[in-house]
Amino acid sequence: MNITLFNTLTRKKEEFKPINPPYVGMYVCGPTVYGDPHLGHARPAITFDLLFRLLKHLDYKVRYVRNITDVGHLENDADEGEDKIAKKARLEQLEPMEIVQYYTYRYHDAMRMLNALPPSIEPRASGHIIEQIELIKKILANGFAYESNGSVYFDVERYNKQYNYGKLSGRVLEDMLSTTRDLDGQEEKRNSVDFALWKKADSDHIMRWPSPWSDGFPGWHAECSAMSIKYLGEPFDIHGGGMDLLFPHHECEIAQSVAASGKEAVRYWVHNNMVTINGQKMGKSLGNFITLEELFTGGHKLLEQAYSPMTIRFFMLQAQYRSTLDFSNEALQAAEKGLNRLLAAQKTLSKIKSSEKSSVDVNRLKVEALEALCDDLNSPIAIAVLFDWVKIINSLAEGKETVTEGDLKALEAIYSTLVYDVLGLEDSKSEGSEHAELTGKLIEMLLEMRVQAKTNKDYATSDKIRDELNKFGVKVMDTKDGFDWEV
Ligand code: ZN
Repeated sequence: MNITLFNTLTRKKEEFKPINPPYVGMYVCGPTVYGDPHLGHARPAITFDLLFRLLKHLDYKVRYVRNITDVGHLENDADEGEDKIAKKARLEQLEPMEIVQYYTYRYHDAMRMLNALPPSIEPRASGHIIEQIELIKKILANGFAYESNGSVYFDVERYNKQYNYGKLSGRVLEDMLSTTRDLDGQEEKRNSVDFALWKKADSDHIMRWPSPWSDGFPGWHAECSAMSIKYLGEPFDIHGGGMDLLFPHHECEIAQSVAASGKEAVRYWVHNNMVTINGQKMGKSLGNFITLEELFTGGHKLLEQAYSPMTIRFFMLQAQYRSTLDFSNEALQAAEKGLNRLLAAQKTLSKIKSSEKSSVDVNRLKVEALEALCDDLNSPIAIAVLFDWVKIINSLAEGKETVTEGDLKALEAIYSTLVYDVLGLEDSKSEGSEHAELTGKLIEMLLEMRVQAKTNKDYATSDKIRDELNKFGVKVMDTKDGFDWEV
């Protein structure tokens, strides 16, 4: 079966033809590890996990590379400001690599709970400084970058004279130039649209490496160009990530590869759309920033209950990856019910008694569901096909439809392959999430008792509950409608 994918670069659906079949190289931009994994991390992870699983199901041999950004990602995604990891390390009084290690573990835990398969290779930016320096040297040698006070910047205008800066995002350089601020002559950059390939480190900057230009660190975009080519060759098949990375990150990646080698490194650019919460963009300042742990435990004021990792996964799969996805309690509760129905049908299958003849065409399930997934990962249609079969499975169990023994075996195999292997759904919640959910419920119960104690003016008990919870690392906050808590 052929897969079609929407290629962001050509802005159309294209039949996917690997450069070197049956091998497929796929690179996906991973997290910058300086905080707890949140909702925004779940969507790209689940989108590209589905693509990874589908390609493997179709017998491709996939090398899936997803990086860990542990250096060079400055605040506000710009070339100025503090390194995100160094800042967190300063605030927590830890070594930057302690921050990286801690949040990498947290990210892995969350991915495991969401049943996202681990990538084949997970390279770190800080482990590939030499490769990045080599890339920058090539770009400099080809005349598309310049050194300025120990830093190296990509010369966007020079590049755009020969190639097209903005081809991925559809931006036009002239427009960008007219909307960006003028440089005051004090800055290192020749032009405000230029981006850093290498930054000279200030004397108090901790994460630094020697280079031909200065002791410093690579710019954020250099790592993905250097590491994708190192592990997947050039060109490679698929580069994925969230739509928020399209500009400047991926646009700069294209410019870097072309400037270094004269050719583009990527065949298909695939981008997942964003998650909104009750119609709003998620953001720390908006108070709707939800971490995955908060979702799994129900520990956020916007959540009416805890949602299992599988509910989150199923909820995300119910939307096609290129459409926006809005989070609300109602939508999540509906997803929870739908997921349970889908999983219950697998158990119903074992109760069906076979007949002499089949009144249903079991092969249709496989064909229609896979066809939907192969059509630019149309998971909502695939799930709709499965729901049609849930009805058929129930009719079979009630004896309203019939199936032969051979067809029944085939149906069981097809159904479980689609639900468990391809969509990556799991029956039982992992032990970790069950415990987390239970812990959340127990904390809520204690805090309800504390409210009761306060109402009864039993302040000794109410303080005791708060202090004991504090000892376990649970911070209790009194709010005007009751209480809030965090671990
Ligand atoms: Zn990247």
